[in-house]
Amino acid sequence: MVTLGSPVRSVVGEKTAKELSSRLGVHTVEDLLRHYPRRYYERGELTDLSGLRPGEQVTVQATVASVSGKWVEAKPGTGRRKPLHKLEVVVTDGRAKLRLTFFNNQWLQSRLPPGTEALFAGKVDAFRGRLQLTNPEVNAAEDSDSFAGVLKPIYPATAKLASWSVGRAVSTVLDMAGAVPDPLPEALRKRLDLLPLAEALRLVHRPQSWADVHAAHQRLRFDEAFLLQVVLARRRAESSALPATPRIPRDGGLLDAFDDRLPFTLTGGQQAVAREVAADLATEHPMQRLLQGEVGSGKTVVALRAMLAVVDTGGQAVLLAPTEVLAQQHHRSVTELLGPLAERGLLGGSDLGTRVALLTGSQGTAARRQALLDTACGDAGIVIGTHALIQDAVEFFDLGLVVVDEQHRFGVEQRDALRAKAVVPPHVLVMTATPIPRTVAMTVFGDLDVSTLTELPAGRAPITTHVVPVGEKPHFLDRAWDRIREEVGEGHQAYVVCPRIGLDTVEEEPVIERGGLWLVPDLVEEPALRPAVAVMDIAPMLAEGPLAGLRVEMLHGRLPPDTKDDVMRRFGSGEVDVLVATTVVEVGVDVPNASTMVVLDAERFGISQLHQLRGRVGRGSAPGLCLLVSDAASGSPSRKRLEAVAGSVDGFELSRIDLETRREGDVLGASQSGRRSSLRLLSVIRDEEVIATARAEAVRLVANDPHLFASAVLREAVDTLLADERSDYLEKA
Ligand code: ADP
Ligand code: MG
Repeated sequence: MVTLGSPVRSVVGEKTAKELSSRLGVHTVEDLLRHYPRRYYERGELTDLSGLRPGEQVTVQATVASVSGKWVEAKPGTGRRKPLHKLEVVVTDGRAKLRLTFFNNQWLQSRLPPGTEALFAGKVDAFRGRLQLTNPEVNAAEDSDSFAGVLKPIYPATAKLASWSVGRAVSTVLDMAGAVPDPLPEALRKRLDLLPLAEALRLVHRPQSWADVHAAHQRLRFDEAFLLQVVLARRRAESSALPATPRIPRDGGLLDAFDDRLPFTLTGGQQAVAREVAADLATEHPMQRLLQGEVGSGKTVVALRAMLAVVDTGGQAVLLAPTEVLAQQHHRSVTELLGPLAERGLLGGSDLGTRVALLTGSQGTAARRQALLDTACGDAGIVIGTHALIQDAVEFFDLGLVVVDEQHRFGVEQRDALRAKAVVPPHVLVMTATPIPRTVAMTVFGDLDVSTLTELPAGRAPITTHVVPVGEKPHFLDRAWDRIREEVGEGHQAYVVCPRIGLDTVEEEPVIERGGLWLVPDLVEEPALRPAVAVMDIAPMLAEGPLAGLRVEMLHGRLPPDTKDDVMRRFGSGEVDVLVATTVVEVGVDVPNASTMVVLDAERFGISQLHQLRGRVGRGSAPGLCLLVSDAASGSPSRKRLEAVAGSVDGFELSRIDLETRREGDVLGASQSGRRSSLRLLSVIRDEEVIATARAEAVRLVANDPHLFASAVLREAVDTLLADERSDYLEKA
């Protein structure tokens, strides 16, 4: 008997089954029911042929305009001995035309008289500058029994398995839709006016009207959002039920001493967030908080205060940075901010104080051993290092707080791994300078509380951003270099950012482990005609040419770690005027005296990435200037993105624009692929309302019934989703 779990080969032929499972991930009958159409064609609705792109696998609906067949004689020397029949069919959508070429398919000629409307599936190729399909699959209206309805479902298909073949396979199992157990509690389903699952599955495959499609999608989309939100709500309920040590700073203790020596007053936003964090730390359950803040809004000091509250109660705090450059910089700035408070046990150190340990991959064995010892025995109240390192090698004496800086991906598993290093689960604060649109926050970080810093400290000079269109005005580039000379002449410093490291390779700077999110590197919208400019080319060129006489240095990911640290330190102390760098300076680098940034080939960076980059200037009292140099043509999508960046310094607005200009798959990124595969119809970009409703319902459900006793189906669906995510993680690890 065929059940939902039966392999697809029990319902379709061997070849089809193999193609379904190897190329489309459809292994079981249930998978087949869940293989939803990508779109639908109405009878008479023709595909816009002008939108086709070479290389795409397409299914188009078009009308035959002309047909002509001829025999081509065998050519001596080609190895072909028989004559070949070549059939040329030109199809049209009423405006554009597309040529179809069929070889040895002469029987088709009679079936495609001019005026026939049919579906054609194949890979678009360009032949002598014209787009065409070679030997496409054909499905003429009269021989399609699978499209009895008014709407033809178009399925995700492969080169070997056309959409309508997939449709036929689906048809064989469609009457089993009723057997798919419905995870939604009946009362909830009715209240939200959603279709029963069986009905939704039938309608998504065989709709009679657009209203059917809409109703089916509504139900199926809600399921996707709801399941995910139940997982997140349970996770959050579970972790907030864990015990943690309350961390309430002592009166007159380390935190007070720090506040006394702080050279500035906290902004209103910083104070508000500090109160939220302090309240979390004071409870007997672990804090699970995401702090998102505009670039330069001063997240570090908020985190440092939380760390000091923990140290004040005898615990330790760890600060994890995504790169060595950033870890080292944090170590320098935290040590500086603490002053004598970081020198406990040393001459002149304060007795209230503590010690700050740095752990990086590049440090010498002796320094490393000392840092590990200080961490293990608790002498170091604050430990700073790169994620990778700390997760592997380190023992803590009493880990009370984990702060994760500038990284999106800090999943449950990583939290679990760190928890294992603590006697009692630590409090967790995750920080990101990339403002996250609400839907993404709800989807990816739905198990965290969110604090937001939008305000910049007062006295910050504004950043001005201009696009420098070297395509149209090449001489503007010289002006950019002049600006740098002027700024340096006034005692300031500058960055020149390039997309690429070296001459010898097209390798780009590896993207910092941000776990994708929507911050994957650029969308390649327009094919690049030349390799991007490289640090190793530009630095000597500038040093000998337009910036001769200035102290120019390079910084990129392939330098030895101690060289990187040395360059950063000298730039920080003003011994270097101009830093020619890759995106290693993208996050977190804080040199207030740097006032100018020139980004070369700026169109190769993403919107949020550019916003991050320019956040490196205008951090002091001098106004920041950011020049986005690009030869992207006026009016092109790339140019528009650059203009968006030049037009706004609001990270939230830019991240929304960024999100809108990206495709869905990029949004959740690689590390979220388990999650992504569970999202077929739901769009993090478009479905904000569905996600918000699902979230509210999930929270309510989990609050009343944390173990989901009321619905075994839901419980099972949630467990499956969790198992997928876990195995995904394990595969990567
Ligand atoms: P980000 O939020 O981008 O990580 P940082 O924490 O690096 O920003 O802070 C940027 C700079 O602003 C640092 O030099 C920091 O010392 C300074 N800063 C932080 N808070 C304030 C404040 N309230 N007033 C003045 N300067 C501040
Ligand atoms: Mg920072």
